[in-house]
Amino acid sequence: MADNVIASIRATCERCGTIDVPASDARLGAAADDDVRDEVVFRCPRCGEIRSVRVDERTSRLLAATSIAVLPPAGIAPDRHSSGTPGSR
Ligand SMILES: [Zn+2]
Repeated sequence: MADNVIASIRATCERCGTIDVPASDARLGAAADDDVRDEVVFRCPRCGEIRSVRVDERTSRLLAATSIAVLPPAGIAPDRHSSGTPGSR
């Protein structure tokens, strides 16, 4: 079932070089008006800087299938769950 789950992402930090970022620490981003989510934003585990790395489509899809959070494209605010439904708590 969960055979192809990404545990960490191989990325490059400008300061630290090649690093492995836990998938739980990364966020899958999206280019503004592009449907392809091919950018991962993460915090470097060594220096703490926010970095982003481009991933190929396959990696992007695997990440989306993992528990990684997916950032909505800029301009789209998902506010559907802001107010709880009465009676079904
Ligand atoms: Zn770093």
